[in-house]
Amino acid sequence: MKASLYHFKTLRDTPSDAELISHKLMIKANMIKPIASGIYTWLPLGTLILRKVENIIRKELNQGNCLEIIMPLVQPKDLWDESGRSKEYGPELLGFKDRNQRDFYLGPTHEEIITDIAKKEITSPKDLPKTFYQIKDKFRDEIRPRFGVMRAREFLMKDAYSFDIDEDSMHETYLNMKKIYKKIFDKIGLDYKVVSADSGSIGGDKSEEFHVLADSGEDTLAFSDKSDFAINIELLDEKNPEKISGMPSPDGNGKLSLKKGIEVGHIFELGTKYSKAMGLTVQKDNVLKEIFMGCYGIGVSRIVAAAIEQNFDDDGILFPESISPFKCYIILINQKGNEQINSEAERLYLELKENNIDVFFDDRDLNPGVKFRDANLVGVPYQLVIGDKVSSDQTVELIKRNNQQKEVIKLNEIINRLKN
Ligand code: ATP
Ligand code: MG
Repeated sequence: MKASLYHFKTLRDTPSDAELISHKLMIKANMIKPIASGIYTWLPLGTLILRKVENIIRKELNQGNCLEIIMPLVQPKDLWDESGRSKEYGPELLGFKDRNQRDFYLGPTHEEIITDIAKKEITSPKDLPKTFYQIKDKFRDEIRPRFGVMRAREFLMKDAYSFDIDEDSMHETYLNMKKIYKKIFDKIGLDYKVVSADSGSIGGDKSEEFHVLADSGEDTLAFSDKSDFAINIELLDEKNPEKISGMPSPDGNGKLSLKKGIEVGHIFELGTKYSKAMGLTVQKDNVLKEIFMGCYGIGVSRIVAAAIEQNFDDDGILFPESISPFKCYIILINQKGNEQINSEAERLYLELKENNIDVFFDDRDLNPGVKFRDANLVGVPYQLVIGDKVSSDQTVELIKRNNQQKEVIKLNEIINRLKN
């Protein structure tokens, strides 16, 4: 992509209400634009990143035999009455009436819809086990939307739902999903931890959260220094972090220490909560059995912000390569009136594109300082600086964004260097 053909309008100032670095940087890089409290438009640069996250998730789920579907955002209240959650869920549930005075909600989560679908689609034990998922906007009327897309009202979630014949099989499916989640967060390249968690209004008996570790995290996590014990402190009787730190670990192994985390995923063993309430059963050996369910969320849009909270410096974002909008950012210096630099840059740009390397060519008529500033801000991992030496020595400079390491490389080595 060329800057001249793109919508590349970074801002000079950060919004005064932005507390978190990810919020500031996403606004400054013009990735997102607020339209109302907790409601954003994703502009081209932000959308590229969001789609990269989404595609990593989709690929791993498909590989794990999960089946992608698309459920409606608008959900009949009747289904929520059936599950009992229209009363239980609280004011985050935004409802309205249609022209025929029927009640609907904007979906904050999809257990009711999927259970209703499963009643129609799963008619025999032979249809089990099965896992469906979608990647879809959710709406939650959060009491205090804040931190940009980290806690929005409308946000993108991956939600998956599994169906099994019995508890053992549900447990196996759950463990399998946990493995898929680990692959996803490893692929994205995040520093994360899995902790036991409170199941809240989703329900069920057992749940675990995936947290990106960052000082700005809203959750406090406790870890044993001697075992795998790890827990969201919401679940502990003692909630005061100062008192928890150094306390003996509840599993009898070692002492607890604390870290801050951003919840990016949450997996649940639901058991028969929804199948019992809504009558999701199959007939096996002449008896009707309630189906065992699990549900599994990932905050797709929150991951973009969380990745930034973990990867930035004074100049801007340091995206992990997996989700960076581009792999390489071409900066021209001394190009004014220098036909050779211009044509070499153009040739290199086309060659990189032909080799499927995601490249952004800053061909704007601006001084190099501005281009470096923008390149640093948006966090592309490699900067390719093309100047006088391209004609005299056939070389360019490759700068690694995360450590500012500079390397002079021959023109004919660039593709190989950037390909892996
Ligand atoms: P939180 O405790 O942060 O409010 P939650 O426990 O209500 O989240 P879940 O119902 O488990 O959230 O939703 C699955 C995932 O969706 C969460 O792990 C989180 O990453 C993401 N998510 C939840 N609420 C929001 C929000 N308001 N904005 C962005 N992402 C969100
Ligand atoms: Mg949660």
